[in-house]
Amino acid sequence: MTIFKKIIDRDIPAKIVYEDELCLAFHDVNPQAPVHVLIIPKKEISAVDAIQAEDKELIGHIFCVIPKIAKDLGLAEGYRVVTNNGLLAGQTVAHLHFHILGGRPMMWPPG
Ligand code: 5GP
Repeated sequence: MTIFKKIIDRDIPAKIVYEDELCLAFHDVNPQAPVHVLIIPKKEISAVDAIQAEDKELIGHIFCVIPKIAKDLGLAEGYRVVTNNGLLAGQTVAHLHFHILGGRPMMWPPG
């Protein structure tokens, strides 16, 4: 079981900013920007690589929710959505998650 499943199940605390029947969003414990929120599906999907055709609606739903969260968090001037897939990309938690980062200028390309 991943740490994110424990957050979904309320076994460990998190600063939750949004929740519905399909997904959960909460502040990252180690923020890399003034605003750093993670949005995750409640369904246990390990990574982008593990997304199935049946997850299309779920993933689309998450991307419909992201702009609402960004607006609520005051990121009208812009924000970045990032997902790391696999070891080389730096994925450390094997539960699909999208980072929402904002509140400062974002560099490109990322490191
Ligand atoms: P990844 O490196 O897999 O793309 O991102 C995992 C993210 O989860 C990291 O930014 C890390 O700080 C965050 N994280 C890891 N454990 C916890 C936790 O217990 N609570 C919260 N809120 N964030 C966590």
